[in-house]
Order: sequence, then structure tokens, then C-alpha cells
Amino acid sequence: MNEVLAYAVGAASLFGVVAPNSGNQSILVEYGTAEQKEKWLIPLIEGQLQSGFSMTEPDVAGSDPRSMRTTAVRDGDEWVINGHKWFTSNGLAADFLIVTCRTEDPDGAGASTTRMTQIIVPTDTPGVNIVRGINVWGRRSDHCEIIYDDVRVPVENQLGRRGSGHQAAQDRLGAGRVFHRMNSIGQMWRSFDLMVERAKEREVHGGYSRPNSSCRGSSPTVTSTSRLPGS
Ligand SMILES: Cc1cc2nc3c(=O)[nH]c(=O)nc-3n(C[C@H](O)[C@H](O)[C@H](O)COP(=O)(O)OP(=O)(O)OC[C@H]3O[C@@H](n4cnc5c(N)ncnc54)[C@H](O)[C@@H]3O)c2cc1C
Repeated sequence: MNEVLAYAVGAASLFGVVAPNSGNQSILVEYGTAEQKEKWLIPLIEGQLQSGFSMTEPDVAGSDPRSMRTTAVRDGDEWVINGHKWFTSNGLAADFLIVTCRTEDPDGAGASTTRMTQIIVPTDTPGVNIVRGINVWGRRSDHCEIIYDDVRVPVENQLGRRGSGHQAAQDRLGAGRVFHRMNSIGQMWRSFDLMVERAKEREVHGGYSRPNSSCRGSSPTVTSTSRLPGS
């Protein structure tokens, strides 16, 4: 499905299957309470809200999410979040962020995969400082650097049970990696078909390119008319 949608410009967005919203939807479906689904998931699916997923940090290796340092500490009925993230995609547009926080003692008992909790943070919460969109390949982006400075959210914003954040991230990212590749394949097929169309119409040395049966377009999953004349 992702491959087919990626073939048409804007279709993935139209059908609401773009990162990071789609991955966040899957977390909310799996880990959200009925109230969280009502408040965050439904508006996200309907396109009324935008979201981001805030896990990677500049000071530790992103490829090892167990090493994240951002903390969330309970204070009464609130979580108090402090930390430094970057590459939070969609950060400039997001209404809320799902933030990976260390809620358990880093040296305490228990497996290293049970020390994180995902917490929903509305971006207009005091202490959420969106520093900048980081340049990617020389261009400005909305993959944001964010500082969380004594950010307070109600404990109801915790997703799933305490310590389930690592598993939630893996659930989300595992499927997301496959979706990204499907998107790339769909975009590749569109580019290839456009190239074939262009080759059919382009005049070179007073004539069209010669038919070449080795040059064919069309994705196996997308019906396309891309064929060289006579091929
Ligand atoms: C366009 C873009 C969008 C992103 N969006 C988001 C987002 O929305 N939310 C979010 O939280 N993050 C996001 N990220 C961050 C992304 O998840 C991280 O970049 C990724 O996890 C890698 O982490 P790192 O950049 O810290 O690299 P590192 O973990 O420092 O890795 C650097 C290099 O070292 C290699 N390496 C690491 N450890 C080892 C090892 N033990 N042995 C051998 N080689 C190793 C890696 O393979 C890599 O080549 C985004 C990144 C990009 C580029």
C-alpha cells in the first residue's frame, strides 16, 4: 500500500500515512488509553493535529536508544521532563510530541530495555524549546533540535505502563523502516516511468529515440502506460 501511495505525489499525505504521524498513531493504538485515543489519536487521524516522535539525542548514540538521557521524574500528579533531543521530525508543525524519557534508575535493577517510558508532550507546554530545524544535506528541515527544560505534563500523558517505552519505540520503528523503503520504491518507480515517458517524446538527431526493449517502465504494483514505442 505504501509503495502504491508513494507513486502518486501527495497521496500518502492525503491518506494520512506519513511519518512521523503514522508511527505515532500505531503507538497510540497499541499503548493509548481510551481517553488518550479520544484526545490525540482521533484528531491525528483526521488531520486536525500534527505530531512528532522525540527520541534521538545529540550526546549519545541514536542507534542505541537504551542510552537516552532525557529524564522524566514524578512530582505529584505530574511528570517533569528534562533533556536534549534532536532530529525530531515534523517538530516545527507538531501540536504534540511523543517523548522517550528515562523514568527508571539507570543503575537500578531490571533489564536495560525497561527503563524508558513514552510521554505525550503538547508543544505549547512551557519549557519546550524548539531550538531549530537541523540542516539535512544543506537544506533547512523540520527535523528539530529541542530542549526540554522542566517540562511538566500530567501523569495521564504517560503512554502504556511505566518502563514500556523501549518496546513501544521498537514496535513503531520496526514497521516504520519497512514503510520508508516502500515509499522509496514507489517514488523510484514514478521517477523511472517519467524517465521512460521523456525518452519516448524526446527528439535526438532529428528523430525519436530508437525503441529499445531493454528500457521499460512501470512498477509491478502500479498500472502504467510507460512503454517505448514498439517495445
Ligand atoms: C532525516 C532524519 C529524520 C529523523 N527523524 C527522527 C525522528 O523523528 N525522531 C527521532 O527520535 N530521531 C530521528 N532521526 C534520528 C535517527 O533515528 C538517528 O540518526 C539514528 O538512530 C542514528 O543515530 P545517530 O545519528 O546518533 O548515529 P550513531 O548512533 O552515532 O551512529 C553513527 C554511525 O555509527 C554506526 N554505529 C553505531 N553504533 C555502532 C556499533 N556498535 N558498531 C558499529 N557501528 C556502529 C552507525 O551505524 C552509524 O553509521 C532522524 C534522522 C534523520 C537523518
